[in-house]
Amino acid sequence: MSNVTAIIITIGDELLIGQTIDTNSAWIAQQLNKQGIDVLRRVAVGDTKEAITNALNEELPKADLLILTGGLGPTSDDITKPLLCDYFGGKLRVDEKVLEHLKEMFTRRKRPILERNMKQAEVPDVCTVLFNDMGTAPGMWFEKDGKIIISLPGVPFEMQHIMTKEALPKLNDYFPGEPIIHRSVFTAGEGESFIAEKLLDIEASLPAYIKLAFLPDSGFVKLRLTGKDTDLIKLTSEIEAKQLEIAERLGNIVIAMEDIPVEQILGRSMKANGKTIGFAESCTGGYIGHYVTQVAGASAYFMGSIVSYDNSIKQNVLGVKQETLATYGAVSEETVIEMAQGALKLLNVDYTLSVSGVLGPDGGTDRVKVGTVWMAVASKNEVRTKEFKFFYDRERNKEMAAKNGMLFLWKFINGKLSA
Ligand code: AMP
Ligand code: MG
Repeated sequence: MSNVTAIIITIGDELLIGQTIDTNSAWIAQQLNKQGIDVLRRVAVGDTKEAITNALNEELPKADLLILTGGLGPTSDDITKPLLCDYFGGKLRVDEKVLEHLKEMFTRRKRPILERNMKQAEVPDVCTVLFNDMGTAPGMWFEKDGKIIISLPGVPFEMQHIMTKEALPKLNDYFPGEPIIHRSVFTAGEGESFIAEKLLDIEASLPAYIKLAFLPDSGFVKLRLTGKDTDLIKLTSEIEAKQLEIAERLGNIVIAMEDIPVEQILGRSMKANGKTIGFAESCTGGYIGHYVTQVAGASAYFMGSIVSYDNSIKQNVLGVKQETLATYGAVSEETVIEMAQGALKLLNVDYTLSVSGVLGPDGGTDRVKVGTVWMAVASKNEVRTKEFKFFYDRERNKEMAAKNGMLFLWKFINGKLSA
């Protein structure tokens, strides 16, 4: 059976001038993909009748499903609703449930309800309303010649809420496709080309209904197997056998058997071992602390991070020796060792990570080039160090330093650093 196909049309002048980044398409595409629906194209158009109508005329013949976001607000630039109403030959009617919800929302917020807000309860009589508990603009579901057209508000969390609660379950009923499942192998330390070489024969052995994708990200490579077949039990056991075969082949570069961020991998092992961690961050400016606190329940193991950006803080707070800084510089193995050891005492934790580097674009010297980052991990009995070289812009270098730092610490704590 061939896949159900979809095209996403995002509406809004702000998308065309680059003021708003179109995150809606990416999110919707991920959700559709999980449900086995192939996204063929993503189109962005401005807030004009002509642009939206042209997009509908052009895209409707090409796919089974169109998903539109944007243009449903209460202001004059929001024209999607009356346009769709005309397009599908309907008339606007007041939806009582939406009207009740609107009145209730305004009462709760202690705001007067305006005529233009009341208008948001009007919906085309040729659509099914996709109720929006999170906002004022309802979503709409149209059916035409066996095709589905879904219109959703542009505000990302409202759009996501309606998709999850209303649209995706309805789509699943409308297009009951073959089950689709994913399994991942998360690696760190080797590039995708190297990994691809090592997996040539395994990749060639995959049946047509299991596909392997390589997804590189900040020095990590995620391998994702996607399988699609009516026999879910057989598919699951086959895909998991391949996942295991890949992981065994790749050996110690495998850090997880699922696609989760490195801060969660670290968090999980910390929750299991009952120990505590803390950081001494220079060039990352607290960014590692930010990542670690993205994990719910981080307070069980993360005590704090000292942002020791200036040398005076490295010296006065962490106790790095003035002599060390003067002799070896702030970006050096000697300095990160003293930072990690200082943090260990000050934060009273089991393990620390320290980071000091030059992220660029300037600040490099002959001795310490831009992109050089020294890190140390320490426990009461042991210190390990590593020099990293990052080659990107400042922001990406910071990202790489943070993620690789968490990985370095995770490996240290779990005895995965080579001797
Ligand atoms: P609208 O439904 O057109 O009134 O959209 C309301 C707001 O949602 C806009 O001002 C944007 O900030 C945001 N928005 C609209 N479309 C998108 C999109 N494709 N991705 C992310 N945000 C969006
Ligand atoms: Mg808009």
